[in-house]
This record gives sequence, structure tokens and C-alpha cells, in this order.
Amino acid sequence: MSISRNLVRIIKIPLRDNKRDLAISIIAIIFTASLQMSIPYYLGLTIDKAFDGNIQQDLSITPFIQIGILVFVLSLLRGVFHYFHMFTGEKIGQSIAFKLRKSYFDKLQNLSFSFHDTVHTGDLITKGIIDIEGVRLFVNTGILRFFLLGIFILTGAVLVLRIDLILGLLALSFIPFIGIVSSVSRLSLRQNWIKLQEQLGILTRVMDENLSGVRLVRSFMRQKYELQKFSIASSVVRKTTFKQIFIKSTSISINSFTFLISMSLVIYFGALSVVDQTITIGELAALIAFMSILQGPVRHIGQLVNSIARASAASARLYDVLDQSIDVKNNKKSIKFNDPVEEIKIENLSFSYGTNEVLKNISFSANPKHSVGIVGPPGAGKTTLSRLLPRFYNLNSGRILLNGINIEDINLEYLRNSINLVDQDLFLFSDTFRENVRFGRPTADQKEIKSSTLKAHIYNHIDSLPERFETMIGERGVQLSGGQRQRLSVSRTFLYHSKVVIFDDSTSAIDTQTEKEIREEMNELGENISLIVIAHRISSVMNLDEILYLDKGTILERGNHRELIKLNGKYATLYKMQINPELRVK
Ligand code: ADP
Repeated sequence: MSISRNLVRIIKIPLRDNKRDLAISIIAIIFTASLQMSIPYYLGLTIDKAFDGNIQQDLSITPFIQIGILVFVLSLLRGVFHYFHMFTGEKIGQSIAFKLRKSYFDKLQNLSFSFHDTVHTGDLITKGIIDIEGVRLFVNTGILRFFLLGIFILTGAVLVLRIDLILGLLALSFIPFIGIVSSVSRLSLRQNWIKLQEQLGILTRVMDENLSGVRLVRSFMRQKYELQKFSIASSVVRKTTFKQIFIKSTSISINSFTFLISMSLVIYFGALSVVDQTITIGELAALIAFMSILQGPVRHIGQLVNSIARASAASARLYDVLDQSIDVKNNKKSIKFNDPVEEIKIENLSFSYGTNEVLKNISFSANPKHSVGIVGPPGAGKTTLSRLLPRFYNLNSGRILLNGINIEDINLEYLRNSINLVDQDLFLFSDTFRENVRFGRPTADQKEIKSSTLKAHIYNHIDSLPERFETMIGERGVQLSGGQRQRLSVSRTFLYHSKVVIFDDSTSAIDTQTEKEIREEMNELGENISLIVIAHRISSVMNLDEILYLDKGTILERGNHRELIKLNGKYATLYKMQINPELRVK
């Protein structure tokens, strides 16, 4: 297992940012290990002093009282140093996790949509939570434990080998064996754990889908089938957990057995050496005590190897995101655009997702006196076009101009202040109505919130709720219908005061009359809004100044409603299909 480049980057963080805590921790580790290893040494001396080199002689109790006091003092000191080691170790780990979490979340806020399109949200959450936890644990159970273990084994080895070379080697013989067994078992436990997480994920999904689709399950009477699906997923989990228990118990038993075998050998050959007077009884006692103390840290070798393996994979996944380059960003000459928009102009725009060309040579413009509607079959590229205007993606070719200024030269914050997209993917936070409405302008007061919700025709509904604007939305609060969600989303736009407003099929669940009233309210907001409406319903665009019929990424027809009807092309066919006497333009 090679220590990855990313792991080295993690190790460099405390070396750069937590020098003081790292130094305290390492000094504390040196003292903790040395003090602990000195106890068997003094114990051996005491026993020799008590017997005074002669086993037959009466025991003197005084040296035992002295060693008792000494062990007490040493343990106390060891405890203090151990506390510092644990505290600073945890502190460094937490501080690294905090920094990584912040940079990770920061990065996610700024990464372009082209990145978000290619990754699964669940994976990003896992990286942000579980992988950062893996890195955090690595500081204490990896870096610092590596030092602690090294000092324990080194000092232990020096002390036992000084007593007797052969007996010393025998006393150390369990270390490589236990080290290998615990590492192998820890690594296979880790593989099994990853498998278990996946299986628990499936179990959760089965349960989640069953609960979310409870009505469907009951109406088709599929409870038995669902139960069967759940039992299969559940028994797979049981099998994996059994394997987990088997690996754990086997490795613990093998390690205890190995340790006891080498301990028995040391006792047997040690006793012979005592009789031969090559070592003293105190030295034999010290050997046994060293072994007992060493076995604890040695069993942690597996944990150390596991921690390195986990952090190595976790850091690679984290840096995979942190190292992503941001392609939609401000350039050096980005300007703070705050002017009223006289015109938004799209010039020869083309765009592809990878190799899939979605928009070809699109040109049109909108201004406060010239609103634009866009219709066309699904997959024509309408939503993509709407997302290019606030620069969610960079264009392949062509330009988008605000009052003649290329949007790539406008500071993103100002650009998105000027252009507001009411997306078809309406999103509401699990928060109160008030906070959801003023999401774009958190400083808005109640008067403004009321006015915008009135214009979006959602005020009466909110006002009828027991807690009015303080009512929570979402799983713990009220549920909203599709139309209500859209109205709420539109009310955000009323509050945001953007100069260019794009509706991407975001009023489809609102009845035609209300939609018309909302549009009129928008016109009344001032003469200075440039409106672009994408819709499936002809009634949503038929009164706009220009309508574009988009198909396979190109504009097939353009003109106002009358002109397009007269043309008798695709738009006219769509209109006839949706025709309804009250929708006809007079
Ligand atoms: P419309 O809004 O007219 O239905 P879209 O703009 O959503 O059309 O989609 C146009 C084409 O681009 C479709 O072929 C669709 O599969 C593809 N597409 C849309 N979004 C993405 C994306 N994020 N990544 C890759 N391809 C996409």
C-alpha cells in the first residue's frame, strides 16, 4: 500500500497550520510512552532489591511500598501527558476537518453546473461527511498513533534486548505476527464495511421507496412483494454483518493465542535463565510486564493500517472535488453592472453538452418593450437556453450581451442580480414561508413580502394558515400543490427586482387566468423588465411581442402570434392542438 500523494497533502496541513499543537502532542506522546515503559523497568529493579538477588531470602516489603508510590506517580504523570496527547490530537483532527469541510462546501458553491451535471448529489454528500470524517480520524489514529506505536516498540525493544538478546527476541516475536494478522483483518473488515454500507443503502432505499410509494403499493396490493424485497435486502445485510463478526472474533482469538504462546515461552525459558542465574528474577518480571504493556499498542497496528488505507481513499475522493477547476468565473476585467437593462441580446449562440450539440446559431433579443416567448417540443433546447442567460454554463460560440456588454465581462453576482431565472426545477427549503419568499433578498421586510406574495396570488393561502408566514414548508410543515409551489417561486422573483426575468415553464401548474394576472402584475412593476417566457402552453406566450419556435436546437419559426398563425407552420399546428375558444386572440 503506497501512501498516496493526497495523504501527504493532508499531513502537510497540521505541519503548516497546527505546528504548536502538533509539537505539544508529539512531546506528550514521547513522555506518555516513556513513562509507561519505565514502569516494568522499575518493577524489575524493585523485585531484585526485595529479594536482594537471593530467592530463598525473606522478602523485604519496603521496596514494594516504594515501587507502589513510584508507579502511582509515574501513572499520574503518564495520565497528564496522555491527556495532552489526546486533547491536542483531537483538536488538530477537528481543526483539519473544519477547514476541509469549509473549503469543500465553498468549492461546491462555486463549481460550475457542468460539474454538478456529472456527479451524483449523494456522492458529494458522502464525500463531504464520511470522507472528511476518515481524514479527521487519520490525524489521531494515523499520524499520531504512528509516533506513539513507534516509540513504544522502539523503547520496548531496547529495554528487553538489553536484558537478554534471545529472551528479548522471544518477547518481541509476537509483534510482527500480531501486526500482520491485525492489519489483514482490519483491511478485510474495511472491505466488508464498504460492502455493508452499500447493502444498508439498498435496504434504506427499499424502505424509503416503500414509504414514499405507500399509496401505489396499497392500491395495487403489492405489500407481499414489498415484504419479500425487504427480507432479501435485509438477509444480505445479516450475512455481511455475520462475516464482520467472524473476521473480528477470529483475529482477536488468533492474536491472543499468539501472544500467550510467546508469553509462555518467555516464562519457561526465562525461568530456566533465572535458575542458571543468567538473568535475575526481577529482569524476568520486567520482561513479562514489558510484553503485557506492548501487546495493547501492537494490536493497534491494524487500526493504524486501516486508518491510512481509509484516509488515503478518502483524501483522494475529496481532492478530486477540491482540485476541480471552475470554468464559470469572473475574469480580471469583470465589471459591476448595475444599470437598467435596455436590451438583452443573444448573438449566434451555440452550445453543446460534451459532444452533444444542443443549440445552434441562436440569435434574438428582448427588451422592456419587446418580450419574447419560446415554445417547441421537449428536448428542443429551451431549458438549456434559459440557463445560459445567467451564465450557468459558458457558451461554445456566440455572445450574450446586456446593453452591449458581453456577460462574460460582468461580475457574476451583478449578472445574476440583473437576470433572474424562475427555473422549472422549483426548489423550496424546509423553512418558513417568510424565509422561502425572501431567499433572494433576505433583508426584505414584511410589507414587501406581503406585496410580492399578493402579486404572485399566494398571499391568501399563506394568510389562511394558522402560523401565516411563520408556517414551515416541507416534511415537518405543510405540503404545497404544484401550483402553490410555482406561485411561491414567482413571489421570490417579484421581491428580487431583476431587470431580466426568464420563466422556464414555471407557471404551467397555475391556471391560465391567474397566470395572466401574474404577468400583468409583472408588467406593472415597471416598464423596465425584459421578459422571456418558455412554455408548453401557447396561452402563456401568445400575447408576447415575439415568439420563437425552437426545434432540435435551431429557431424554425419566429414572429408574433398572428404572424406565426398566418405562417401555418409548426407553431400554428401546436396552437390548433391546444386550441380553446377562450384562448383565441381577439
Ligand atoms: P427542453 O427544455 O426543450 O426540453 P433541454 O434544454 O432540457 O430541452 O434539453 C436539450 C437536450 O440537451 C436534450 O437532448 C437533453 O437530453 C440534453 N441535456 C439537457 N440537460 C443536460 C445536461 N445537464 N447534460 C447533458 N445533456 C443535457
